[in-house]
Amino acid sequence: MHKAVGAFSSLLDAFKMADVSMRYSLFVPRAYNLALSLGFQPGKIMPSRAFCSDESQGYPIILITKHFGTFPFNHGMVGGIVATDRHGPYAHHGQDLILIQASHVGYDPETGRFGTYRRLQTENQNETTNCGKICGALDWYINEYEFAKTNILLKLEDGVHKIIIDNQLSNIDRQQGLILKLDKFVKTDDRGIPIPEVSMSTSKMFNALPELVELLGHDKWTTGSTTPIDHALYPDLFYFRHITSQEDEGSDHLEKNLINAMPYIVYSKWPALAAAQANTQVEFDRTFRSITLDHAYTGKKVLFISGLNVDISPQKDQIFPLTKFIPWAAFVQDENGNQQTWEQAELFEKLMQQSEENPDQINLEEAIELMQGFKEIKLPF
Ligand SMILES: [Zn+2]
Repeated sequence: MHKAVGAFSSLLDAFKMADVSMRYSLFVPRAYNLALSLGFQPGKIMPSRAFCSDESQGYPIILITKHFGTFPFNHGMVGGIVATDRHGPYAHHGQDLILIQASHVGYDPETGRFGTYRRLQTENQNETTNCGKICGALDWYINEYEFAKTNILLKLEDGVHKIIIDNQLSNIDRQQGLILKLDKFVKTDDRGIPIPEVSMSTSKMFNALPELVELLGHDKWTTGSTTPIDHALYPDLFYFRHITSQEDEGSDHLEKNLINAMPYIVYSKWPALAAAQANTQVEFDRTFRSITLDHAYTGKKVLFISGLNVDISPQKDQIFPLTKFIPWAAFVQDENGNQQTWEQAELFEKLMQQSEENPDQINLEEAIELMQGFKEIKLPF
């Protein structure tokens, strides 16, 4: 783990992964039975899903259809963002309402990597990014971080710890880019501008603050040669500025969700996983508030579950991914307006208390066959 602490660090650290993950084929019947335990009435439950548009999300949707006996309302936008302006129409479609929101991340069991997924329908069954929207948004930030890691150099000169910072990185007025918290690196004047020892053509050399030397470790500094700061550029030492649309649920909503967590995401071993996790956390917080404010839910039973869909890349003879669900949090409201929030451990415990059996589940093949047997209805034109 990194040495930095911060508000987002503690939120990200609060998310347990391996201990609470479960196969989707077990999660959905448990979610159904959890809804029944809250008094939801079989046959009157309308599910909705807020998933990314990626076809990898199809298998969870099929399982929801099978166990709830109806196709779930589409509450989601690319990247796993909740379309909160659809609360009204959704709430009108059922008596008891269960919303499932999840960001997603691919996982390749052969390489043990997150963020990739085998697309069986491509010419050569190539692996591509997953979630593609999240990975696409991360590229810019990861490039900025890579540049900073290699263009901040450390060296020991006559026993003094020196740091050489690229001019672009020491410019605090930049509108976009990775912005160093320079007062954690070097002495700054009262306007926050760093005071260099030596100015060179593309960089400046400073005396490193003793606190920085402690944080990075004495062994990072060597006499004679310069050493890039590399992975010792901890998330607490920088942040990002990026000009994007600030529109709610607009094309840059995902980046807006992630920008404060971004130092932790780019630093993480698996940025695509950390980003999907952070997005789920931000979306849960935002969506539960929007549910409590929306009159469409007044007098309704509501169960809102948020989590992470881990799409295990399908092998050659598999039609679907072996998706796992990692629950994060839930919000519950009864018809009298009593509301509760369940944190991760509580939600997991409640799910695990439920049976994996669902006698109400439908046989999809039979249902489709039955539909084909009905007399055709002719349209009046
Ligand atoms: Zn996606």
